Order: sequence, then structure tokens, then C-alpha cells
Amino acid sequence: MSLLEVNNVKKSYNDGTMALKGIDFKVEEGEFIVVIGPSGAGKSTLLRCVNRLVEASEGNIIFKGEDITSANRRKLKKIRREIGMIFQSFHLIERSSVLNNVLHGRLGYMSDLRGMFYLFSSEEKKAAYTLLDRVGLKDQVYKRADELSGGQQQRVGIARALAQNPSLMLADEPIASLDPISSEMIMNYLYTICREEKITCLCNLHQVDVAKKYATRIIGINSGKKVFEGTPDELTDEEIDRIYNQTKKESA
Ligand code: ADP
Repeated sequence: MSLLEVNNVKKSYNDGTMALKGIDFKVEEGEFIVVIGPSGAGKSTLLRCVNRLVEASEGNIIFKGEDITSANRRKLKKIRREIGMIFQSFHLIERSSVLNNVLHGRLGYMSDLRGMFYLFSSEEKKAAYTLLDRVGLKDQVYKRADELSGGQQQRVGIARALAQNPSLMLADEPIASLDPISSEMIMNYLYTICREEKITCLCNLHQVDVAKKYATRIIGINSGKKVFEGTPDELTDEEIDRIYNQTKKESA
């Protein structure tokens, strides 16, 4: 059984935009899959359908044998614990401490009441410190999140996702807002930690060279359709051209 199966997923937004036009692929445990494609191709929509930040209009998504797309609220909460996510714009609570941001990753495990009052256990706090140490932020624990640089904020994002103990990590253009040095650092942390913790990763990227460096498999999408699936070696210049230029050719 694959860890994740995406079956004929389509998404049309309320304004009629067909963001996904029937996407199929499978993700096996331990893979580091990178989704590439031009801006507006549907990468972000696809990733968000996996944890249902966006509701697919058709098709289904199966995670560990369970249909995410039809899960009720309770089941969805349980499935979401296992799926961490990091965002292009970090999505931290800016006025809250670095430590509290990481502890936020634990909310899916808490009752609504414990969560509301931030009643984290001492084990949870210890684990959060350890995670922050792991991403090199041991000395920033009590700072406000918005006092950190972009690269540091994204490391908090990674630590928060890891606090969930995920088996799948979704990364939506995690380095798009960062300078080249921070970008490399973030990709290295993401890749190494996923490998060490046996976390499967599905990562959207805009940069083809970065995709080729880290991916075990690459999926190329354009205009809501999968137009490539293969290893980094199979992603030839012609294929890259096809993924990125298709829109031009179609409209020419
Ligand atoms: P990518 O991540 O590859 O840049 P997106 O998934 O963000 O692509 O967008 C795919 C298409 O869906 C684009 O045409 C975009 O404008 C559109 N889109 C994204 N979000 C919405 C929304 N909330 N409402 C309407 N259209 C949207």
C-alpha cells in the first residue's frame, strides 16, 4: 500500500478557475517528491487538497488507506496530525514566542479546552526545545517570532511541523521568500530531518536545480495537469521546456 494516493483530483474554485484537471500519482514511504511547474500551474492547490485546506471538487486522496477527501471532522483531525505543513510565508504567530509557535504543532493532539488554554505538558515543552536545538535555534526560544530573520522563521516552521510527529510533510514553496544562503540551509534541514526521521516529503518548488538536487522523484504540472513524472535524471532540458513552456505553446 502506498503512503499517499492521489486519484483523479480536480479542483474548480468558486470563480470557475479549473486549478486541477485530474491529477493522479502515488507516494511511497520515504520518498522526497518535488512538484515543479510554472506559477499558477496548481502546485499549491494540489498540496492543500492533501490536507484539505482546499476541498477537492472531484477524485479522492487516500492516506495510509484512509480516504482523506471524505473524512468527517473527527477523522480529519486525526489524519492531519500525521501531516505536517510548511508554508512559503511561514504562517507563524508573529507576536508569540518561538517556543509557543512550535508548541502549536501539538494542538492536534489536545482537547479543545487544553488547546485553548495552552496547557502543554512538560514533555511537550522539552520536545519543543529539542526540536529548536535541532534546527539551530536554541538561543532564540523566547524571542518573538517576528524578531527572527526569514530563514530563522522558516526553521521555526519546520520545528512546528515536526512537533506533530508527522509521517508526511507538505512543503509549499518553502524557500520562495528566502535569500540563496537561507534557501540552501532550509532545504538541507528539511531533507536531512525527513531522511533521519523517515518522514515522507511532498514539496512544491519553483527552482528546477533545487528540485533535481533533493528529489527522489519529480512531478511536473502545468495548467492543472501532470505533464511529467520521473527521476531527476529523467528530467531532461526538453522535459523542463515542456513543463514550463506548455502554456505559451498552447496559447500561441
Ligand atoms: P501554483 O501554486 O502552481 O502557483 P496555485 O495552486 O496557487 O498555483 O493556483 C492555480 C490556479 O488557481 C491559478 O490560476 C490561481 O489563480 C487559481 N487560484 C488559486 N487559489 C484560488 C482561489 N482561492 N480562488 C480562485 N482561484 C484560485
